[in-house]
Amino acid sequence: MEILRSLREIAEMRKAGLLVWQVHRRIAAMIRPGVTTAELDAMVDGFFAQHNATPLFKGVPGTVPFPAATCISVNEEVVHGIPGPRKLVEGDIVSIDTGCKLNGWCGDAAVTYTVGQIAPDVRRLLDVTRNVLSLSIALLDRRLRWSQVAMEMEAYVKKHKFSVVEAFVGHGIGRDMHEDPQVPNFVNRKLRRGSGDFRLTPGLVIAIEPMVNMGTKRVRAKADHWTQVTADGRPSAHFEHTVAITENGPRVLTAGPNGETW
Ligand code: MG
Repeated sequence: MEILRSLREIAEMRKAGLLVWQVHRRIAAMIRPGVTTAELDAMVDGFFAQHNATPLFKGVPGTVPFPAATCISVNEEVVHGIPGPRKLVEGDIVSIDTGCKLNGWCGDAAVTYTVGQIAPDVRRLLDVTRNVLSLSIALLDRRLRWSQVAMEMEAYVKKHKFSVVEAFVGHGIGRDMHEDPQVPNFVNRKLRRGSGDFRLTPGLVIAIEPMVNMGTKRVRAKADHWTQVTADGRPSAHFEHTVAITENGPRVLTAGPNGETW
């Protein structure tokens, strides 16, 4: 069952979310050909430490524990890429997902950045992914249940001839990074049956994170046990915000100081 948060708790989560926004602004300033994904990760790790925040991703259990503060996924990598010596090159797209815990509360957000000039169809992939996230946030106080939002997200992506990744979903977030409910970006079997559905009620805090592929929705894991790549090798994009539903509408907790989103 999902936990509903008070306005005071949401205000605490906003502090964590603002740090995540700030670190993303710093990432944006560092992105250029020649920078390594390990350098980006080291900056994020240092920034969180400097602000007495704990990176959420480091040590996440798996076949091997996740080793870094960020997931950095380049081009055909969808999510969960491990930072390392790879240098970004002109024309790359790079999805960076990171989160922190501050005073016991979590924030989580992802952006797909561009390195220099990118191909027009890749630009369109990024626009559609960013827009479907915005669409989902805008619908939070206009629909009763998540299944209705997920249906419209799926339809929006299909209309643009791209595919929604189904292997990974968003999540409730609060004291822990991953809480109930699961937040799929498409209508899965559980939503269709109603068992996975939930009401869009004030106090609900969720991380919405559509992953959109240019080609097939299918993904596979690389030999490092973490990095997920598209099955056809075509590019993938990922945008995420932590969002609270309040009596006054949706509030993006990982937005900028003036409510700016990606
Ligand atoms: Mg997330």
